Amino acid sequence: MTDSLSSRLQQVRLRLDAACAAAGRAPGAAALLAVSKTFPADALRAAYACGQRAFGENYVQELQQKCEALAGLEIEWHFIGPLQSNKTRIVAERAHWVHSIDRLKIAERLSAQRPDGLPALNVCVQVNVSGEDSKSGCAPEEAAALARAVAALPRLRLRGLMCIPEPTEDTARLAAQFARLRGLQRQLNAEGLALDTLSMGMSADLETAVAEGATLVRVGSAIFGQRDYQH
Ligand SMILES: *Cc1c(COP(=O)(O)O)cnc(C)c1O
Repeated sequence: MTDSLSSRLQQVRLRLDAACAAAGRAPGAAALLAVSKTFPADALRAAYACGQRAFGENYVQELQQKCEALAGLEIEWHFIGPLQSNKTRIVAERAHWVHSIDRLKIAERLSAQRPDGLPALNVCVQVNVSGEDSKSGCAPEEAAALARAVAALPRLRLRGLMCIPEPTEDTARLAAQFARLRGLQRQLNAEGLALDTLSMGMSADLETAVAEGATLVRVGSAIFGQRDYQH
């Protein structure tokens, strides 16, 4: 188990390096977030032993349990799932990053609940670049206003934008959606924000995302294997 995890992690690192090289970007220009949702603490331990430090979780309860189980490790915790307002406190206390800010109310609560002893919480605004009704994320037309409001909150540090494109094998369609996120980042930076992060790309499409400027790819199944939601 541990061996196959380490070889899968190594393969993902090689894919990421190759994607950066193919895009003419520096090695390491896109960082790897290991998305560990539904996998036990031991799986994270195994990835940690291979040098992985940044882990992404989607469910608040699971984030809390893993933070407690792995308290001795120097993990950088990223919360990447939909966030309800009654669950923000745990995330404000535990996470180093939140990628899934899609409305101001959630950001305000995270800012208010971020403990004083911790540095500002790094956040990304999630944008629904595909326009599918079922997707979370703010509408692209609302992203600039939301980003400006989030950037003004005292205990948050707005780092960039995140998207989950529609699931499609059509690489050109995917690329256009990633490019839309990058276009929004450019626009906001031209207005004076300093966004250094584009959180985009997953197991199936990280190469396309890196070609379009991803600085952080969120990879789950290619590292940990297929998820079993039944438990
Ligand atoms: C689960 C998840 C991922 C990882 O997806 P894989 O296809 O397993 O790589 C990335 N981002 C978000 C927001 C997720 O929920």
